[in-house]
Amino acid sequence: MIGGLVDTHAHLDGTDFHADLAEVVRRARDAGVAAIISAGQDEATSRAALCLSERFESIVPAVGVHPHLAADAGALNWLETLAGLPGVVAIGEIGLDYHYDFAPREIQRDVFARQLDLAAARGLPVVMHCREAEEDLLTILRGHFDAAQTGVVHCFTGSYEMGVRFIEEFSVFLGIGGAVTFKKADQLHEAVARLPLERLVLETDCPFMTPAPHRGKRNEPAYLPLTCRRVAELRGAPETDIAAATTANAWRLFPKLATR
Ligand SMILES: [Zn+2]
Ligand SMILES: [Zn+2]
Repeated sequence: MIGGLVDTHAHLDGTDFHADLAEVVRRARDAGVAAIISAGQDEATSRAALCLSERFESIVPAVGVHPHLAADAGALNWLETLAGLPGVVAIGEIGLDYHYDFAPREIQRDVFARQLDLAAARGLPVVMHCREAEEDLLTILRGHFDAAQTGVVHCFTGSYEMGVRFIEEFSVFLGIGGAVTFKKADQLHEAVARLPLERLVLETDCPFMTPAPHRGKRNEPAYLPLTCRRVAELRGAPETDIAAATTANAWRLFPKLATR
């Protein structure tokens, strides 16, 4: 698997990909994407990500409960079981979403903290979703994130200053996705240009967050090089350097990639 880009955040289990997933996986490989982390959002989608990883060598599962679905999380016994399976590389996606507030915030915080504890106990990385909830996320990390763990704040669209706060306090990685290709993203452009390269990883978050020039269509891992190219432009660096660095970062973020 070494040598290709890593799409550090995707959702390949949904109906968007039912009809042509084999083609999607092939196009990703042809585009130079060697591994795709497919993140669960609840028990069913976490199990689906595991099944996909058995069908396709390049698909790598993460398992967890998304903040949108935190109200239905229950006792998380199933997550304990799945987290112990050898192929699972991370707990995710987990976190807080105060933009949509689909689950009560108190429940989101509780479910996030319990999953962080589970990840810490297992020594697994965490894949975090954070929307309009940065202060609470940082507060919860202070009590529940183990310094020996790794983690990523996926779909990072914050300011340079916010990125620095995540990096300096918790040494997490920041997932850079299709939003960086959008024209009206000055704050994110500045952040991606200035943040330390050794903390950035690439992601599609497909089927969402489709990069330019494909906006309006379904996103897929084969579009990851468009995001890599834009990061290279913003940093004034060769695309090959950005590809190599973000791939190395993804391997540090998900140590179990090496055992696959
Ligand atoms: Zn997310
Ligand atoms: Zn996601």
